[in-house]
Amino acid sequence: MKVLKFGGTSVGSAENIIRVKNIIHSVDQQVVVVVSAFGGITDRLIRVAHLAGEGNALYNKELHEIVNAHYRVIEGLFEVATQENIRQLIEPELDELRSICKGVFLIKELSRKSLESISGIGERLSSKVIAACIEGAQWFDSRHYIKTSYGFDRNLVDFELTNSLLRNLQPQLSRVSLFPGYISSNRKNENTVLGRGGSDYTAAILAAAFDAQKLEIWSDVNGFMTADPKVISRAYCIEHLSYIEAMELSHFGAKVLYPPTILPVYQSNIPVAIKNTFDPAAPGTLIDREKFLPGHQQIKGISSIKEVSLLTLQGIGMVGVTGISMRLFASLAARDINVVLISQASSENSISLVVESRQTARAIKAVEREFKREMADKRINNIIVDNEMAVVAIVGENMKRTTGVAGLLFNSVGKNGVNVYAIAQGGSELNISFVIKERDIKKALNVIHESFFLSDYSRINLFLAGKGTVGSKLLQMMGQQRDRLMRDNNLKIRLVGLASSKAMIFDSEGMDPLGAADNLAAKGTPGPVTQFRDQIIAMNLANSVFVDCSASEEVAGIYHALLQANVSVVTANKIAGSSTYATYRQLKNTAREKGVKFFFETNVGAGLPIIAPINNLVKSGDKIVRLEAVLSGTLNYIVNNLSREKPLSEVIVEAREKGFSEPDPRVDLSGIDVVRKLLILARESGYVVEQEEVEVEPFVPQSYLELPSLDIFMEKVKALDGAFEERRQQVVSQGRRLRYAATLIQGRLKVGLIEVEKSHPFYDLEGSNNIVLIWSENYDRHPMQIKGYGAGAEVTAAGVFADIIKVANV
Ligand code: ADP
Ligand code: ASP
Ligand code: MG
Repeated sequence: MKVLKFGGTSVGSAENIIRVKNIIHSVDQQVVVVVSAFGGITDRLIRVAHLAGEGNALYNKELHEIVNAHYRVIEGLFEVATQENIRQLIEPELDELRSICKGVFLIKELSRKSLESISGIGERLSSKVIAACIEGAQWFDSRHYIKTSYGFDRNLVDFELTNSLLRNLQPQLSRVSLFPGYISSNRKNENTVLGRGGSDYTAAILAAAFDAQKLEIWSDVNGFMTADPKVISRAYCIEHLSYIEAMELSHFGAKVLYPPTILPVYQSNIPVAIKNTFDPAAPGTLIDREKFLPGHQQIKGISSIKEVSLLTLQGIGMVGVTGISMRLFASLAARDINVVLISQASSENSISLVVESRQTARAIKAVEREFKREMADKRINNIIVDNEMAVVAIVGENMKRTTGVAGLLFNSVGKNGVNVYAIAQGGSELNISFVIKERDIKKALNVIHESFFLSDYSRINLFLAGKGTVGSKLLQMMGQQRDRLMRDNNLKIRLVGLASSKAMIFDSEGMDPLGAADNLAAKGTPGPVTQFRDQIIAMNLANSVFVDCSASEEVAGIYHALLQANVSVVTANKIAGSSTYATYRQLKNTAREKGVKFFFETNVGAGLPIIAPINNLVKSGDKIVRLEAVLSGTLNYIVNNLSREKPLSEVIVEAREKGFSEPDPRVDLSGIDVVRKLLILARESGYVVEQEEVEVEPFVPQSYLELPSLDIFMEKVKALDGAFEERRQQVVSQGRRLRYAATLIQGRLKVGLIEVEKSHPFYDLEGSNNIVLIWSENYDRHPMQIKGYGAGAEVTAAGVFADIIKVANV
């Protein structure tokens, strides 16, 4: 014999009931079928009960809708000729429902007894309708066989009585027998129910009593998944679980199986399969006694419980005093309070426990009463209560044999800024459970799932500010390289937010990078970048990365808050790194403290790797003693292109037209851009330096830079053509060349024009290239040399892209 249970998700409509019918017909042995109420009906019945109890006449309308929902299923399932018969078949139940509700409405009081009667009607209705459409099926009223008594705030199954009633019934079972799930009765034959989700339990009780060969739980998922698929879309089906693993996962919230279900089948050693009504061919999950350990996998699944509170009892009067925990738990048990998790510090001066939110007030009262004396004389402090909390558990038999599970777990949640309030590990080392804020739950589940089930891919959630030349190139790369990243790096970059200086747009499911800028223009909401910041923080997504492709000071101003909220920052904007040393340091420190990344490789030399090699030298303990560099592609282009035919003013125009210079070339010509880059290099090399300490000789005299407008400047600068050409010719005649250099020598920072000889590495620096020479204690005779194309939107965007991928890989 097999026992098959079909949940509300499987019997929500006539169409689905036909699927169920086909599954039942395909079983070639004796079968006992347990069904839930039609999908959503139990919730609605409970709502009706409460409305009636409040004396709210709206209950009647809701009641009507429940009746109609059943009539609709009947119409979908049966020939017109038989429909009336079926309606008559369920009339006694509907009648009972109407009269109980009426009574509750009139006296405006909903007793537990009435509530249980009302909420259990759904299974009586559904089972009768389904029995009528399965040929030869015999219907049994579960209330006659499953008996309960009341205790610990719930109905407890009286197994002795239940099993004997069921065993007496067994010889009368047909080939197909149908039982309503969820419902039961007490010794006084009053209606009771087995708790929400209790149809699973009904099925397990029947399977155990009838000594079935197998119990199958049919639902709307392909099996027991690594996490709730409604929260983690990448969760996948677990092939096999031991009874204990399944129990732990369901205890901590995996709704696919009602937790008490396991015990009866475990005791009778009956295997359980979790199957999908909508995909019967899928293998599903097998639960049995085997402790099957798949290869290297450290854990089997993750589950979570919401709507709980954390209570913490603390005080030095608890240390070494025996009996405190006993009194604590006895006081809670006496008031039927269900304790979900317990954690005690080894110093014994605090005990934390988690209770369901609906029981919090009662729990506090119980504890306060129990420890009244100790609290009065301050041996125990007041209870600390944290509301809106959640418990997350990771489960797997393999954890016993693997080290580092807890390390990986807390490292991944910590890096994402999820605060852990209490931790408990089952003595059997089968689970680790911990308490977090409810608002962090989705993020926590995502990062844990990613850390432990890296079978598919990792994902980062990206927010981009700036869609100018660099930003738009970056979007283009993201769009074009999506497939390659997924294939080669198992990385998915999801563009969740995009902001320009005027507007912003978000989509937590991710937007197409190629259409994002148009979307922003069409549908963006106006707002300042601080609003973009607040929204990024509020979205609270795992592995969030903020990318700055602007040159704006306001944008640089939001980094700190983002890093503090565990959002990594990748920036092509030099402003933060070259503002005050204190700001620079604060950003670096915050990133380190929070375990997130702050990358700005493109601040110097665009796509050229300069900062990373310096970081590596410093990390290896080397000390950088001297730097010499050409860091302005624009200025190098200008000096390289000056000639007898092409004077300074013309080369400036040309550099601007070719997009080598900043839109306002004075930014380049003032040398400020080079100063910023040098500052960043010096700081990354370990020097504590401020911008004022840099000696700057601008490329053109200061007085020109102060002219009131760019047009006037472009006009006036022609006056310098002659002098520049003269200097150039003189330098060339000595076999030298002009270079606009940045140097750090003996702690002194300098930026200005220098003349270099043929033997100097700068001499041959072509076009708009950059070069950096690094002398350190290890590179003292021959400097490390980094040279290459160092300007342009394309290479800058590529550098930013590389930083983003680096964030994902750490
Ligand atoms: P039924 O009506 O069939 O009893 P339930 O709604 O009670 O169905 O349980 C199935 C639901 O459980 C799934 O739709 C899924 O959202 C949820 N669920 C939570 N955790 C898990 C998990 N680890 N594996 C599968 N489903 C889960
Ligand atoms: N219908 C009941 C509920 O929703 C029992 C069940 O479906 O398991 O809780
Ligand atoms: Mg269920």
